[in-house]
Amino acid sequence: MWWQDLIDLVYPPPLLCPLCQIALIEEGLPGCRSCLDQLNLGWRCLDISGYACYSMGIYEQRLKELLGEVKYHRNYQAGMVLGQVLGLACQEESSLQGVDWLLPVPLHPNRLEKRGFNQALVLAEGIRSVWKRNIFGGAIRRHDTEPLRDQGPIARRRSLSHAFLLNNPTRLQGKRVLIVDDIFTTGATFQTMAGLVQLYQGIPLGVFVAKSPREE
Ligand SMILES: [Zn+2]
Repeated sequence: MWWQDLIDLVYPPPLLCPLCQIALIEEGLPGCRSCLDQLNLGWRCLDISGYACYSMGIYEQRLKELLGEVKYHRNYQAGMVLGQVLGLACQEESSLQGVDWLLPVPLHPNRLEKRGFNQALVLAEGIRSVWKRNIFGGAIRRHDTEPLRDQGPIARRRSLSHAFLLNNPTRLQGKRVLIVDDIFTTGATFQTMAGLVQLYQGIPLGVFVAKSPREE
């Protein structure tokens, strides 16, 4: 009814946490305190072949579960929340202040159809909603590589070496490009993307929701 819309406009209803749908969101954060605490977040700087990269947590327990919900159960909302928390962290990280582009790692169209959306793009959209940066939409995945988690490091590099290409890559020239992905495991995907960015004279950096506990 129109009067309810009017009341909502004057007194907006308090926002529920998108993760639990029970508690109210914490002021200035995208979820409730309890849901965010369960993720056990901690900002880490990772030096990957000389590139500055950051991760927000370890790929285990609740964070692992939530990333699985995003990836395999089409939980777009959870992806946005994780992206927004990532955006808040990037905003505070002094070495990322010069970032010009967010570059989500692309999915192959076959996988995109199966999953419904690219989780890295959703994360980038979440980041952008709190930290105003442009998303570079010109990355393409040419080969539908086998799930990389089942492969060793050498096999991963081989599968990835021709997997990606960039459209209009001159836009990256001289720009700081933040490669966005959900999980950091061996760094093979990141290194392939970073190599491409460098090929077009961009400066690659990386950010991940979680890093594999094995590399700790
Ligand atoms: Zn919650």
